[in-house]
Amino acid sequence: MSKIRLLSPRLANQIAAGEVVERPASVLKELLENALDAGATKVEIDVEEGGVQQIRVRDDGIGIGQDDLPLALSRHATSKIYTLDDLEGVATLGFRGEALASISSVARLTMTSNDSESSMQGWSAFSEGREMEVQIQPVAHPRGTTVEVRDLFFNTPARRKFLRTEKTEFNHLEEVVKRQALSRFDVSFYLRHNQRGIHALRACKSQAEMERRIASVCGPAFMESALFVEHEVNGIKLWGWIALPTFSRSQADLQHFFVNGRVVRDKLVSHAIRQAYADVLFHGRHPAYVLYLELDPNIVDVNVHPTKHEVRFRDGRTVHNFLFSSLHRVLADVRPGDNPAPTQYVQQMPAAVPADPLARGEFQGQASMGLQSHGAAVAAPAMFGGYSLSPAPSGGDISDHMQASRDFYQAPAPSLEAQGSEEVPPLGFAIAQLKGIYILAENAQGLVVVDMHAAHERITYERLKLAVDGEGIRTQPLLVPQSMALSAKEVDGAEQFAEEFAKLGFGIEAAGEESVLIRHIPVNLAQADVLQLVRDVLADFLTYGTSDRVQQQRNEILATMACHGSVRANRRLTIPEMNALLRDMEATERSGQCNHGRPTWTAMSMAELDKLFLRGQ
Ligand code: ADP
Ligand code: MG
Repeated sequence: MSKIRLLSPRLANQIAAGEVVERPASVLKELLENALDAGATKVEIDVEEGGVQQIRVRDDGIGIGQDDLPLALSRHATSKIYTLDDLEGVATLGFRGEALASISSVARLTMTSNDSESSMQGWSAFSEGREMEVQIQPVAHPRGTTVEVRDLFFNTPARRKFLRTEKTEFNHLEEVVKRQALSRFDVSFYLRHNQRGIHALRACKSQAEMERRIASVCGPAFMESALFVEHEVNGIKLWGWIALPTFSRSQADLQHFFVNGRVVRDKLVSHAIRQAYADVLFHGRHPAYVLYLELDPNIVDVNVHPTKHEVRFRDGRTVHNFLFSSLHRVLADVRPGDNPAPTQYVQQMPAAVPADPLARGEFQGQASMGLQSHGAAVAAPAMFGGYSLSPAPSGGDISDHMQASRDFYQAPAPSLEAQGSEEVPPLGFAIAQLKGIYILAENAQGLVVVDMHAAHERITYERLKLAVDGEGIRTQPLLVPQSMALSAKEVDGAEQFAEEFAKLGFGIEAAGEESVLIRHIPVNLAQADVLQLVRDVLADFLTYGTSDRVQQQRNEILATMACHGSVRANRRLTIPEMNALLRDMEATERSGQCNHGRPTWTAMSMAELDKLFLRGQ
């Protein structure tokens, strides 16, 4: 007898199910994707006992005709692609034609559908993990489809054992609903658990309604400190909302990214975004965002993973650079009272200061108020003591700039009258210094409190970066070229990216099949562990097509210098000196956070102060 045998359809499907159906949430994800692919405008989800007992999804999409119904449940049966070419530019969420077959091999599945607008005559198909034969019977059903999945893993006890508590499974289900709800603002979603209403998200018709949906899905605190982003270059478009760095998370749990409407977790994407936040985020914290990338489906491969959570970009490096530069710019531009960029890069959200931000364990106190006041003009920094932030003159040493920065705050102060009839700038005018640490200022809305060391540190740091950028990256030859052992693949990579290495100040050439010679290194990194750095940069190039490690190392050094070169606590500043610092903050990129990502200022409006004193209540 032959040793090789064909698997029974049921076993084949159960094996395939292992890839797609991990838990109730994965079932729901597939059912929701099908409903959306069917053009539903309204999706109702009913869940019993964390989805293990039952998941029912009802949609008002195009439905399935009587003849197609049994096919829908068979493996490799799909209405979404017919040829390989269709796969190239696939625009639907599904296309593998195996979700329903997989689910019905490990649960009891009933699918009821009607594809006619005019009659209530629908058909119901039932399948329960048998040899996949399907019985069909007539039932009344409006146009659309209802899928009911009961007793998940009833015939695969080993899988059932991996299920967690009802609450945990439900949390996963809810997460799936939230993500799909964020992916399609034009669709209504209703979620009930054990007959209790959990979410009722009506279709959104305006940006304000979209923002309300995000607030109910991601929490109002996110929306309060979110910036709207929109950027398009050469047919690639990014839009959505990113939280200010001062609203960060201890976990990467508020990161929603969609590629052409598909929920995606992609390391290239998260790397690019992390890099955009690198200079402003408090150590160990994670940024929060809801972002949409839209690009020609022909340049993304969605057929990389059975659950379609990952994608592959044909030109990953372009996408990485596009994401990084779009977000980096937006974050750098966040300044107290700054005008939105003319391109509508950033739009200010209606912001309300949270009643008790600290209780939520988030840094976010300052976010909202400065951003509202974008109408106010920023006084030219040059007005105050002729000091300016313009890029460093070429040549000159970094220490000159450090000195200049220290000198400034000892410079003879301009008089307050100089402001005369000027509009009140966003951070207002200084009234006092508190305990040698904080500057108290008054602006149009009320009180502003500034941590003067943190603020000055950021200003000095940004100036140092400008100075070094102005010089360009200089390179120095090593006395003795360093040889370095690498794998053959890495040596290929090093050659392929030789030009990129040169741009970063490295001179690297292949010295054999498994070694390279390092001849030049960037000047200001003479102290760094060169071999490790080259290894890391190369790994970045190979994975993301780009690397910011050299800049990161350099920035670390500059940040340390800035810290030592900035006004310390307990330095008495005169009022004009304090005003000059405030004006500097308004003119400096990223001045809302110190170099470590902590906020540099916070504000309290008159309304908030009045509330504290129960005034007018
Ligand atoms: P895929 O989504 O990859 O095509 P599925 O197994 O999820 O594979 O579904 C098989 C087919 O059943 C789909 O191609 C579609 O034609 C049909 N189908 C599934 N769910 C629905 C639905 N809610 N409304 C209309 N048609 C559906
Ligand atoms: Mg599907």
